[in-house]
Amino acid sequence: MQSFYPQKRLLMGPGPSDVHSRILEAMSRPTLGHLDPDFQNLMEEIKSGLKRAYKTKNRMTFPVSAPGSAGMESCFVNLVEEGDRVVVVKNGVFGERMRHNVMRAGGIPIVVDVEWGKAPDLNKIEEILKDNPDASLLAFVHAETSTGVRADAESICRLARNHDCLTIMDAVTSLAGIDLEVDAWGVDAVYSGSQKCLSCTPGLSPVSFSEAALDKIKNRKTLVRSWFLDLTLVMNYWEGDGGRSYHHTAPVNALYGLHESLVMLFEEGLNETIGRHAAVHQQLVAGLDKMGLSLFVDESVRLPQLNTVNVPEGIDEAKVRSRMLSDHGIEIGAGLGPLAGKVWRIGLMGNSARPESVDRCLTALSDSINAVDNQ
Ligand SMILES: *Cc1c(COP(=O)(O)O)cnc(C)c1O
Repeated sequence: MQSFYPQKRLLMGPGPSDVHSRILEAMSRPTLGHLDPDFQNLMEEIKSGLKRAYKTKNRMTFPVSAPGSAGMESCFVNLVEEGDRVVVVKNGVFGERMRHNVMRAGGIPIVVDVEWGKAPDLNKIEEILKDNPDASLLAFVHAETSTGVRADAESICRLARNHDCLTIMDAVTSLAGIDLEVDAWGVDAVYSGSQKCLSCTPGLSPVSFSEAALDKIKNRKTLVRSWFLDLTLVMNYWEGDGGRSYHHTAPVNALYGLHESLVMLFEEGLNETIGRHAAVHQQLVAGLDKMGLSLFVDESVRLPQLNTVNVPEGIDEAKVRSRMLSDHGIEIGAGLGPLAGKVWRIGLMGNSARPESVDRCLTALSDSINAVDNQ
């Protein structure tokens, strides 16, 4: 075998995003023992950094040692008990994944079906909540990466609260890309991913749980169906008081990376980072417009960090993507499910959300479309 040296790509798909050299450098520092006092201090800093990013005081805020899907599973497997009825708002791939999580945790999903590319309809959610007074949880995706749609998270949480439901919110793509206020909106359980707008390497999932969520977990009548994700066990490692005990070996160097990404986030400022995502989105939309390309999602609910671009008539979208990768070293994403073949997904997340990256992407897209068109 030989060492692997990947080519330098510009990652402008649905994630992972471009990882800054500072983060990669941080990850190459010497590995500490996972119970080393110095490492425990780093863990405390990561927890407080995540609280700041999520805008929450929740003491139960930490990164799950696995990708975003594990953060999702952590929320469902801890909060859903046998027979629980869970309202799931589904407007893309990740809502569907939530429905599966509910079933695997022994719950009964009640689906609010929303057309792909549309934002969750508040009236429809309220109707379903009224029709299901015994529902105890409501789950939705803040930023649907499969379509590029933003949900009105604050209003959805208010509706859930008015109907005595705790909320589970997917913030994998939203954290550090658009406004997100866990405490002010009253989100009870939230999960994200390290590789989207935080621009770290993939493999970690920051989660946060409110006191109400912890109460529901404390009052469970049955064991959490996952040993690894059982919050009460994991927290014996992540909680400082009373001394930490071994639960699993933390991915030490990956956590150096997450720590550095948080350092960089607060150096720039959370609001400034969110503003940068909005500004490069406008730049991209203006450039696409000049090329005669349109966006799939209505302007009012578009995510700046994930842009679904309509593929022009008669163009083979896969050929364009492979040209972009081979000739320009740029990765963009394909459409999923009903959008397969119909859209490209251009991610402007974290370190990929730079004016020069947008320029490179627009030039590459234009060249690649012309090349494929003239074949
Ligand atoms: C990427 C993504 C996930 C899954 O995260 P992984 O790290 O790939 O497991 C979940 N939800 C949304 C909205 C995502 O964009």
